[in-house]
Amino acid sequence: MVHNHAALYIDGDWQAPTSADVIEVHSAATEEQIGQVPASTTADVDAAVAAAGRAFRTWSALTPAQRADVLDGFAIELASRAELSARLVSEQNGMPIAISTVAEGQGPAGLLHYYAALIRGTALEEHRPALAGNGTTVVRKEPIGVVAAIAPWNFPALLAMMKIAPALAAGCTVVLKPSPETVLDSFVLAEAAAAAGLPAGVLNIVTGGPEIGKHLVAHPGVQKVAFTGSTPAGRQIAETCGRLLRPVSLELGGKSAALILDDADLAATVQGLATASLINTGQTCYASTRVLAPQSRYAEVLDAVTAMVASLPVGDPLDPSTFIGPLVSAGQRARVESYIEAGRSEGAKLTTGGGRPADRDRGWFVEPTVFGEVGLDHTIAREEIFGPVLSVIPYADEEQAIAIANDSEYGLGGTVWTSDADHGLDVARRVETGSFGVNGYTLDFGAPFGGIKASGLGRELGPEGLFAYFNTKSIFLTD
Ligand code: NAD
Repeated sequence: MVHNHAALYIDGDWQAPTSADVIEVHSAATEEQIGQVPASTTADVDAAVAAAGRAFRTWSALTPAQRADVLDGFAIELASRAELSARLVSEQNGMPIAISTVAEGQGPAGLLHYYAALIRGTALEEHRPALAGNGTTVVRKEPIGVVAAIAPWNFPALLAMMKIAPALAAGCTVVLKPSPETVLDSFVLAEAAAAAGLPAGVLNIVTGGPEIGKHLVAHPGVQKVAFTGSTPAGRQIAETCGRLLRPVSLELGGKSAALILDDADLAATVQGLATASLINTGQTCYASTRVLAPQSRYAEVLDAVTAMVASLPVGDPLDPSTFIGPLVSAGQRARVESYIEAGRSEGAKLTTGGGRPADRDRGWFVEPTVFGEVGLDHTIAREEIFGPVLSVIPYADEEQAIAIANDSEYGLGGTVWTSDADHGLDVARRVETGSFGVNGYTLDFGAPFGGIKASGLGRELGPEGLFAYFNTKSIFLTD
C-alpha cells in the first residue's frame, strides 16, 4: 500500500504546502518507495509556529482537567490507529513488528493517558509562608509556551509523544518535526489529532531534514526545544539555544555497558541481553552494546553471547517472529559496515556475522555481529554504532568493570547481570549514567529517562518530564 499525502497538518487543518517539493519514503526491507509527503519550506514552519503561538493563549487558559479530557480523546483516536502506526514504523525503519506493536502502536496512546491523569492530579499553585514571616509566596507552575519538538527515526512515534504528551498536558503547544526517513507515521498522528478535535494550532507538524530543524529551533516564536537525536546535532541545537537563552532538553547518543558479574546465570543473562543489547536491531539509544565479561569466564561468556546472537531470527520486519530486521537506510547500513570493518582492521576477533545475510537481496540488512577480544581503545568499544554489533570486553575484577563502564564520553543506559540483585543495585549506583537496569531494562513511562555527559541534558517521562514544560513563578503576598 502506498501512503501519499498532499497537505501539511498546520493550525488544525490540512494546508497546501508552499512548495511542490516532496519527501519520498522507502521501505527498509524492500527499498521500494512506500509513500511521499510535502517537503515543508521555512514559510510552512513560520505558519506552524504562528498557529502554535495563537493557540497557546487559549490552550494554556483551559483548566488542567479540560486539557486532560482532550488528551484522553486524542489517545482513543490514536489507539484506534495503533496497528497502522506500528506497521508504518516497521516498514519505514525496519523495526520488528513485535516491538513496534507495543512501542510505536500502543505506547503513544498510553503516554497521552498517563500525562492526562498526571496533570489532573498535579497542584500547579502552592502557598508557601515566607521565611521572614511577613507574607506568603504563591509558587506557580506556568506553561513555557510554544515547543519545537524534533524526533529521530528509530522510535519515531514514541519519541515524538514523549515530548507532545507532557507539553500539551502542561498547557504548551507544539510544532513537531519528525525525521524524513519516518515521516509517514506522523500523518497518522495528525489524523488522530484532527479526529479527536484537538483545538486548532495546539499540535502542528512540519516535514524536512536538518535545515528545517535549524529554522524551527532558532525561530523567535518558539519558547522551548525538545530534541532527540545524535550528539553532534544536539550540540548544534544546544549552541543555538545557548545563544538565545532558550530552554532545551536533549536526548542524545549512547554507548552503554552490560556488566556481566562472575555470579551471573549465563543462560538467563544472554537471553536477557538479546533485548537489552539488540532491541530494534541495535538502533536503540540506550542499548547495552559494550558487553563486559569477567576474565575468569571470558571464553564461556563470549561463546554464549555468540551463540545467542547467531540464533536470532533475521528477516521481514512485518513477520512477528523476526528479531533482527533491516537498518533504516542504505546510509545507516554503510555506517554500521564501516564500524565492522574498523573492528576487523583494529584487531578484534569476529565470532559471528560481519556481512549481509545471504538470503536477502533487497533491504538494508546487516547480520547480527559479535566481536571478541575488543580493546578499550578500539573504535567499536568507544563510538555509538547504532546497529546489531556487540563488543565483548574482558575485565579483571568488579572495580575495573565499573571503571570501564564509566570510561565513556556517554552516560545514557546500561545493565548489570548477577544472581544477587541487591549487589546489582550497589553496582548500578556506581555507574555514571542516566538510566540503568538490573538483570534487564524496560523503559518505564513513570520514571525519568535521559542521559548525562554527551548523552544529553534534562529528562523525559515521569513527573519530571511534565515539569520540563513549566516555568516557575513566585508571587509575594505581603501580610
Ligand atoms: P539526527 O541527529 O541525525 O536527527 C534527529 C532529528 O534531528 C531529525 O529529525 C533531523 O532531521 C533533525 N536534525 C538533525 N540535525 C539538526 C540540526 N542541526 N538542527 C535541528 N534539527 C536537526 O539523529 P538520527 O540519525 O535521526 O537518530 C539517531 C541518533 O539519535 C542516535 O545517535 C541515537 O542514539 C539518538 N537517539 C537518542 C535517544 C535518547 O533518548 N537519548 C533516543 C533515540 C535516538
